[in-house]
Amino acid sequence: MTKVFIQTYGCQMNVADSDEMFTHLAARGAEYTDQLDEADIVLVNTCTVRDHAEHRAVSFLGRLAAWKKERPHRVIIFAGCAAERLGAEIQKKYPFLDILSGAKDIEHFSDRLDASGLFAAPGRAGEAPAPGLTGYVTIMRGCDFACSYCIVPSVRGPVKCLPAENILKEAAQKAAAGAKEIMLLGQTVNAYRDGQTSFADLLNRVSEVPGVERVRFTSPHPIYFTPAFLEAVKNNPKIARNVHLPVQSGSTKVLQEMKRGYTREIFLDKVRALKACGFTISTDIIVGFPTETEEDFRQTLSLVDEAEFFAAYCFKYSPRRGTPAAQMKLLDKKVLEERLDILLNRVRGLSDAAYQTQVGTVKEVLLESENKGRSSENFWVKTHKSYPVGSIVRTEIEKADGTLLFARD
Ligand code: SF4
Repeated sequence: MTKVFIQTYGCQMNVADSDEMFTHLAARGAEYTDQLDEADIVLVNTCTVRDHAEHRAVSFLGRLAAWKKERPHRVIIFAGCAAERLGAEIQKKYPFLDILSGAKDIEHFSDRLDASGLFAAPGRAGEAPAPGLTGYVTIMRGCDFACSYCIVPSVRGPVKCLPAENILKEAAQKAAAGAKEIMLLGQTVNAYRDGQTSFADLLNRVSEVPGVERVRFTSPHPIYFTPAFLEAVKNNPKIARNVHLPVQSGSTKVLQEMKRGYTREIFLDKVRALKACGFTISTDIIVGFPTETEEDFRQTLSLVDEAEFFAAYCFKYSPRRGTPAAQMKLLDKKVLEERLDILLNRVRGLSDAAYQTQVGTVKEVLLESENKGRSSENFWVKTHKSYPVGSIVRTEIEKADGTLLFARD
């Protein structure tokens, strides 16, 4: 039996893409292995959002030279965003690479395999690996924005929404294979539309799939959180009350230079509206964008105070080659470091504070082990008694300790 080892870099969309690519290999008789030594095929699914991720993928590819030399019939597939960005350049540098399949090519991955002449024709339909408690389902690919620091639109192309019926079918397959929670994925996931089916309609329909207890989604864009969306989902408790909503800066001026498509005020309005519907909100923040002044940075700090995020992931700006912002003059490294320190100090403890406010509330906990799971708002909860993994326990919170809640039952 041919065995395939999969190395995935980057986001959850890449994990879902790796699963999808694996189904095409499985249809050609391959089975999964987590041991590189015993594999006949390596699928490297890459990320290029940050330089670091791309370097890791390329250096892993470099190390595969010796692996391939051991048994020259072995097959190396280099796929995803870095494959798209680097294109023929990477094939030239690593001639032992057998198949190159960029991120825009995912729908044609099967054709790529056939065109390589290295595989027999597909037989039985390939099966995705068992999903675990969370089943990831990609609902759209690409992005129609053009944030000035971001490489994604050029490597993934414009938005392409997948047909709602296919998504429902995939969610049903994952639920039948044991997933209790479905995570819908897309770069601007809440921009989804398929004919008359809006993103809210899709969420509601996925939540009705037998076996699905909870529906999450990532990553949304603030502008698509409209009153109509909130109205459409407000009575559906299966839609998890947690969103990861990247703000990137608290300064309207910087947001405009980043081409984010919203102002500070619009973002804060969305935060208030989401919170009123019970959502907790985490975010991403970039410090030291090239045009960021001290005053802009102060605006970011004050936005953090106002928004009271559930968690905030903070990054120093680093330029990506091929993006408009990469042409701009960088701020002094020391300034970036100082600002990051200040911001990290400001966001430290946000989660602890959010956990403390939950004492006395009632939560529905989806158990990921016998006595620990997550609430709809994404709080980690430890239960008093043990329950079967995958069950939902409704219980009152007795105390909080750091980023863990303790339940009465
Ligand atoms: S919305 Fe902006 S940051 Fe997000 S993927 Fe699109 S261009 Fe990149």
